[in-house]
Amino acid sequence: MRYSLHQAEERLIGLGFPKYRAEQVFKWIWQKNAGEFSVMTNISKELRGYFNDRFVIAGVKIAGLQCEGTDAEKYLLELEDGVNVESVYIREGGRRTICVSCQAGCPLACKFCATGLIGLKRSLHAYEIADQVRTIQEKRGEKCSNVVFMGMGEPFINYDAVFGALEIMSSPIGLGIGRRHTTVSTVGIVEGIEALLKSSIRVKLAISLNFADEEMRQEFMPVARTNPLKDILKLAKTYSLKKEMVTFEYVIIKDINDSIRDARKLMVLLRNIPSKINLIPYNEHPRLPYRRPSEKSIDAFFTYLLESHHTVVIRKSRGQRILAACGQLSGAKAGII
Ligand code: SF4
Repeated sequence: MRYSLHQAEERLIGLGFPKYRAEQVFKWIWQKNAGEFSVMTNISKELRGYFNDRFVIAGVKIAGLQCEGTDAEKYLLELEDGVNVESVYIREGGRRTICVSCQAGCPLACKFCATGLIGLKRSLHAYEIADQVRTIQEKRGEKCSNVVFMGMGEPFINYDAVFGALEIMSSPIGLGIGRRHTTVSTVGIVEGIEALLKSSIRVKLAISLNFADEEMRQEFMPVARTNPLKDILKLAKTYSLKKEMVTFEYVIIKDINDSIRDARKLMVLLRNIPSKINLIPYNEHPRLPYRRPSEKSIDAFFTYLLESHHTVVIRKSRGQRILAACGQLSGAKAGII
């Protein structure tokens, strides 16, 4: 079924069925991994046949898996039309995180990002985003605790599907993942942040800032030309005050944005916004010229922010070796870059 819960209810009610039928089918698909109607034993045989004649249970298929059984597994997933996306499973202590893609590729072409190199193949539907989580959970035989929208694509240029996926993921009859265990990461699409603010959805919001001045941002992230920093920061402050504290992500790149001068600019820019900073040392990719700063530069940057009373953490990247770390996903088949 290619529907969110709310769409499935509308569709079945429109066909004359009570609302609970949609809930029954939904539970089978999302909680019991049913791939066909025939196994839905609490629905009459006649009705199962009726559904089978009119609906298809669609989903994603595993087409490749790297580093199976380790703390960072990279999944190559195939959509119904043969397009591939990547998802990453990360195990850290008791936490099981799945990083999902919301688009196959990305049209925004941030200069330092491998996903940006491949352009956009297409945006995913809500069920295709949520099914990445269901499929990996089924394969691993365990529930994930956290979901992050940090895979391929920009969530807020596909926000209807992303909001639909959030509904499936958070619903107690869907995947049942708490919204506060879900993080949506955006490069700062003003319209999308506004939509999230207005909605009743309460997820964690991460904004991939990366540069503290507008000019540099626009040079490395073309999307910044139509999404000004001042608007992003204003919305971020409102989000922190009204919903959840915002996290700013800063991918720190050697000789590009790793100086103490850059750290100072960042400190000044964020000083009035209740927020946390995630420093992400750049993950190198063979097709891109950018480099990871030395540990000494990363530490100096981190210490400067910390001493300026910012909450700052250095994010450990899992999966660098298999190009599964942040900014490295490019739909490459196992072993082929
Ligand atoms: S960083 Fe995000 S928005 Fe920019 S190109 Fe990569 S996937 Fe797209």
